[in-house]
Amino acid sequence: MRGQIKTAKQTTAALRKRRQALLRQLPPLRAVLRGSLIERYKRCGKPGCKCADVRGHGPKYYLSVSFPGQRPQMDYVPQESYAQASAFLANYHRVRQILEEICEINRELLRRREVL
Ligand SMILES: [Zn+2]
Repeated sequence: MRGQIKTAKQTTAALRKRRQALLRQLPPLRAVLRGSLIERYKRCGKPGCKCADVRGHGPKYYLSVSFPGQRPQMDYVPQESYAQASAFLANYHRVRQILEEICEINRELLRRREVL
């Protein structure tokens, strides 16, 4: 793992400094969404519509969210919400990365018998 290699080589002071820096980079926690945006092109079914020959009308966007043991849930995302939804999804990934890295730092501090 990338984190393990990185943390093991750094001084304890550097790890603590890195942890502080990560906290400052944390996106606002209200601005997160989990899942992924998927594109759909739909055929309208009207006779003679060109969408019958091509991929369909769209793109329309849906937020797909999976839950353990369930089929993914899909919610329509209107065009005007797309940019924000996309940004929130990116925030979620960044939060996950930051948490993972902080956990690695704390694990390394624990190994060194340092104060967490
Ligand atoms: Zn059509």
